[in-house]
Amino acid sequence: MSDLKNQIATRIGDKNVVSDPDLLAPHLVEWRGRYSGATPFAAYPATTDEVAAIVSLCVAAGAKITPQGGNTGLVGAQIPDGEVLISLRRMNQIREIDAANDSLTAEAGVVLSNVQSAAAESNRLFPLSLAAEHSATIGGLISTNAGGVHVLRYGMMRELVLGIEAVLPDGRTFSGLKGLRKDNTGYDLKQLFIGAEGTLGIVTAACLKLYPQPAAREVVMLAAPSADHALALLHRMKAATGAVSAFEVMNRLAVDVTVKNVASVRDPLGGVGAITVLIEFEAAHAEGLRDAIESALAAAIEAGEAETALIAENAGQARVFWALRESISAGHKPEGAQVSHDISVPVSGDANLPQTRQCGDGETLPRRAHRRLRSHGRWQLSLHRDAAGRRRSRCLPRSRSDTTRLRDSHRTRRIDLG
Ligand SMILES: Cc1cc2nc3c(=O)[nH]c(=O)nc-3n(C[C@H](O)[C@H](O)[C@H](O)COP(=O)(O)OP(=O)(O)OC[C@H]3O[C@@H](n4cnc5c(N)ncnc54)[C@H](O)[C@@H]3O)c2cc1C
Repeated sequence: MSDLKNQIATRIGDKNVVSDPDLLAPHLVEWRGRYSGATPFAAYPATTDEVAAIVSLCVAAGAKITPQGGNTGLVGAQIPDGEVLISLRRMNQIREIDAANDSLTAEAGVVLSNVQSAAAESNRLFPLSLAAEHSATIGGLISTNAGGVHVLRYGMMRELVLGIEAVLPDGRTFSGLKGLRKDNTGYDLKQLFIGAEGTLGIVTAACLKLYPQPAAREVVMLAAPSADHALALLHRMKAATGAVSAFEVMNRLAVDVTVKNVASVRDPLGGVGAITVLIEFEAAHAEGLRDAIESALAAAIEAGEAETALIAENAGQARVFWALRESISAGHKPEGAQVSHDISVPVSGDANLPQTRQCGDGETLPRRAHRRLRSHGRWQLSLHRDAAGRRRSRCLPRSRSDTTRLRDSHRTRRIDLG
């Protein structure tokens, strides 16, 4: 391994190959401390050619590779288990903004919030947004096909990628940085790298879609009596405004645990409601948007779908609303071990999905589960083991007929969710 390290150091420079344990440490643990690993050394290439050279040298030496971006992935795939670590963090250049083409070409190590800012400077929007946006990188977001809070309106990362450049497992470079919206020249090979978690190559750059900046944005937080009511609300708000860009549902436990454990976060609704719904609206024109939202909220309260609702009066209040949602992962960290799931189902099937009867220690699962409904049809479900280490060994579905069987690969236990 030291030969390989020396060869790579000769190619990309001594200081860009690191085996000092203190410098490696941040790369070897997932931010919640759930996954940790080991590597003989980390290489920090600055160009696509350097990535290609490192891959070729590793292939020749028979060494395995784990690519890493911002190390924000939640399933530990970015943590090496003895492999050579290739960190893309030095590949952090925005190569081009083509405003006329509504596209931006960024290297794999560019942090998402920097892409958002660069787009905004050109009066454009890059709509992907998630709580890890100040650390997560374009390469990692592509490799995990990240979703974020605006999937409802703009789709997942897959829908936001026009072209990809990647280094293949044999060291060759795939050059597919096209900025075309219409491309019928054959196989769409870039798709193979999206969601592939580095298995088919190392993404080194991508051409991304930009959108017009919305002229008006409103953020609402409301209390709903149940997930069924929240679904009814989603359809009411979409029909009434045509402007829903995000719709997040959090249950009481998720909100309470977050408020308890994250000092800077508060519940704007003051603990009201079994379900907290956060809705963001974006529109090309401000005229009429607020009126449409207010009318729809009044009708929703009248219909019993919402108990109380707050509309953010300014950007500061909107940030307070969003802070609650974005702090959920951090809020759950001190509560002990978690089994997190990211479950996609049709929106029509959502409301009854995480209804479970009982867990191993006699507590009902919903008391221990954090459930978030994404209006694009995805439940995020976290089952907790409390800090004292008691486990819920098995959770029984309310209805066997619509049971979703999941494998908790980490502990190789099966959990049934009805
Ligand atoms: C607080 C928080 C909130 C989140 N919210 C969401 C959310 O709302 N929606 C969502 O979808 N995800 C969410 N995530 C997870 C999200 O998928 C990751 O944060 C992000 O996509 C990973 O980017 P990264 O640069 O940190 O990649 P890493 O964590 O470094 O790597 C992730 C995976 O991609 C691979 N990889 C990294 N870079 C490359 C590359 N250049 N080429 C090939 N493979 C590579 C790694 O080997 C690993 O398999 C959240 C994470 C956190 C911490």
